[in-house]
Amino acid sequence: MTSDGACTLIRGAQVFDGERLRPASDVLLAGRSIAGVGRNIGAPPGAEVIEGRGRTLLPGLIDCHVHAGDVRALGQALTFGVTTELDMFSAPEITAERRSAAACRDDVADIRTAVQGATPAGGTFARLTPGLPTVAGPQDAAAFVSAQVASGADYLKIYLEDPVWYGSPALSAATVRALVAAAHSHGILAVAHADSAAMARMFIQAGGDGLAHVLADLQVTPGLLARLRRRPAFVIATLRATAVISAAHARQIEEDQRELARHPRLGSFLDEPTRAVFTRPGLLADARARGAVAACGGARLDFDAALRSVASLHQAGIQVLAGTDTNYPEPGQPGNAILNAYAGHGITLHHELELLVRAGLSPAEALSAATSAPARLFSMTDRGCIAGGLRADLLLVDGNPCADITATRNIVAIWRNGTRLHRQPWPALRSAGATAPAARARA
Ligand SMILES: [Zn+2]
Repeated sequence: MTSDGACTLIRGAQVFDGERLRPASDVLLAGRSIAGVGRNIGAPPGAEVIEGRGRTLLPGLIDCHVHAGDVRALGQALTFGVTTELDMFSAPEITAERRSAAACRDDVADIRTAVQGATPAGGTFARLTPGLPTVAGPQDAAAFVSAQVASGADYLKIYLEDPVWYGSPALSAATVRALVAAAHSHGILAVAHADSAAMARMFIQAGGDGLAHVLADLQVTPGLLARLRRRPAFVIATLRATAVISAAHARQIEEDQRELARHPRLGSFLDEPTRAVFTRPGLLADARARGAVAACGGARLDFDAALRSVASLHQAGIQVLAGTDTNYPEPGQPGNAILNAYAGHGITLHHELELLVRAGLSPAEALSAATSAPARLFSMTDRGCIAGGLRADLLLVDGNPCADITATRNIVAIWRNGTRLHRQPWPALRSAGATAPAARARA
C-alpha cells in the first residue's frame, strides 16, 4: 500500500527540524513528501489530523553503523523509528533483495550499504569470514572497489587492523591511499574501521572521509584533531557497541537493555529472538561471548576511554554521528554469541542517543547526529530534516527529546516515505495481554 494522494496534518507539535527545536507548528504530509511546515496550516478536505500538542515531531532517525543482515532487520529498525540504516558490511548476495524491499515496501527501513569491506589476506576479519575477498596491495584497490560498487556499494568500508594489536598482516598506507582514491573516483566516501589512533591517523592522511567507530582511547591529540578538522572527517561514535563488549560495563549495559525491553512503547515491539537477548541475565558476561570478543581484540576496548574520545572530538568541532553496530541475532547458533550481543535494530539507537548525551553532546546535537548530519554527509539530500519538499520520514513522540533525550522512546507514530507504520506488538506478547480484551470488545 502506498500513500499517494493521502494527506495528513500533524497539528501543533514542536518540531525538531534536524538542527534545532522550533515552536509548535503544523506539518502537512501529502503523498510521500512533507508539503508544508508553518503556523495555522488548514487541514485539506479528507486529511487525517493528528494531534501534536505536548509532542515533538522529528525527522526519521538514521543509524549510521549497522549490519543489516536480511530484510527482517530493516523491519525491526522501522518499528523503532529508524527510517534509514547505513550498513557497514554485509554479503553481496543480500544487497539486491534488501534494496528492492526498501524500494517497494512501506514496512521496512531504507538502506545504504558498503557491501564487503577491504581487508588484507591473513588479517583477522579474513580469518573470521572464510571466502572474504581480500586486498593484497595497491594494485588490487581499483578492482576491489569496482566490484563493491557493482554489487551496490554506496560507500567503501576499509578494515584497518592494528598489527600491534593482532600480530597479523594489515593494509599498508599505500594500499589504503589507493583504496581511498578508487572510492573517490567512483564518487563515493571511504569509511574505516580503525583499531587504534595510529590506524586512524594513517587513514585520514590517506584522504579517508570518516571513522566507523571510536573503539577506545583514540588519543585525540591536537595533531589528530587538526587532521580530522582539515579533511574534514566525521566520526561514527558507536559508544554502545564499545560498552557492550567492554568487560567493566557488561552488567550496566544488561540493565540498560532490560530497561529498553520494559519500556511500554518499545518492549512489546521487540521480536522474540531479540527479546531473548535483551532479557537473558548474564548474556553479555557469557563466557562464550567473552571468548568471541577476546578473539576480536575486545580486551583492548574501553568504554570510558571511548566516551572521553567522543567528548574531545565533539568539543573540537569534529562531526560525531550516531551508530550502533547492531546485528540481527541468531540465538540458536552459539558460534554467533558476539553477534547476539549486538542485537536490536532500531531500539538500540535510542540507547546510543542517550550515550552521546552522556559524552557531552546536547540532546539537539545528538539528534542532529542521527538525522541531518548523516543525511548531509552521505548525500541523502531528500531526508534528515523537516522542511517542505523533503521525503516524509518522520517520528512523533510524546514529550521533548531536546530537553530529555530518552523522550525519543515515547513513540506515538512513525511515517516512512509518507506512509504511517502500523506498529504490531510481537504476537506472543499480544496473545498474553493487550489484544485479548480488545478482541472480545469487537466481538
Ligand atoms: Zn560494524
